[in-house]
Amino acid sequence: MARTIAIVNQKGGVGKTTTTVNLAASIARSGLRVLLVDLDPQGNATMGSGIDKRALPQTVYHVLLGLATIERARTRSESGGFDVLPANRELAGAEIELVDLENRETRLKSALALVADRFDFILIDCPPSLSLLTLNGLAAAHAVVIPMQCEYYALEGLSDLVNTIRKVRQTINPSLEIEGLLRTMFDPRNTLSQQVSDQLQQHFGAKVYETVIPRNVRLAEAPSHGIPGIRYDESSKGAQAYLQLAEEMLERFRLASPTGGL
Ligand code: ADP
Ligand code: MG
Repeated sequence: MARTIAIVNQKGGVGKTTTTVNLAASIARSGLRVLLVDLDPQGNATMGSGIDKRALPQTVYHVLLGLATIERARTRSESGGFDVLPANRELAGAEIELVDLENRETRLKSALALVADRFDFILIDCPPSLSLLTLNGLAAAHAVVIPMQCEYYALEGLSDLVNTIRKVRQTINPSLEIEGLLRTMFDPRNTLSQQVSDQLQQHFGAKVYETVIPRNVRLAEAPSHGIPGIRYDESSKGAQAYLQLAEEMLERFRLASPTGGL
């Protein structure tokens, strides 16, 4: 049974997609089977995995509306070594079309249940909103990873997100956990970043990953080549950080389930 993790933060530009693609590639490299689900109509995770979002007969949109199975709609990221349930702009329409459908918040969860035994990890890249699409991600997940930039308003946004997670627990997904908070695009020379980072650790303690993702231009260049950063320039500081993050995640996971869980 796959462990399903939603990468979520209602703020845009905090590194959700970069984290999803690089974690998927890092976990896949250790020999595990990974499915990346792109839940953002921008399709950045799809493109960053080397898949042309304009040339897709079926996507996560069709899966959410019950027009295709994941088995049919999934495709392979050759550059990343994992499977992708891709997205493109069509997904923006799902938001409206889902409203009148039954079980509108748990459609992704039901679809993923049919393929959960084929993967070790399912990583869901959420859009920058607390929309119906994000709720589908939160309903389907065992846990969330929250990437964040250590800037002044970050903590405020975080309390909105934590409240949403609480509400989701009370309704559609009682067992949803916070897997970890990830500091992204970090610049240790910036004193404000350091202060926000300290506050984060005071508030969330061990939930904050020890691994910090530095600001690194190679990570930003990789998507335009359709290659995950960890494969585009493995020796870069950014790539090394994501490889280390995957190690830290897998280690936490092993500790949480001594039988290995996989
Ligand atoms: P989100 O999915 O939260 O909107 P992205 O992962 O798309 O965020 O990142 C936003 C932008 O910042 C992208 O252009 C991405 O390439 C760049 N970026 C992400 N992480 C880093 C990093 N660690 N260093 C430098 N640039 C980064
Ligand atoms: Mg994104």
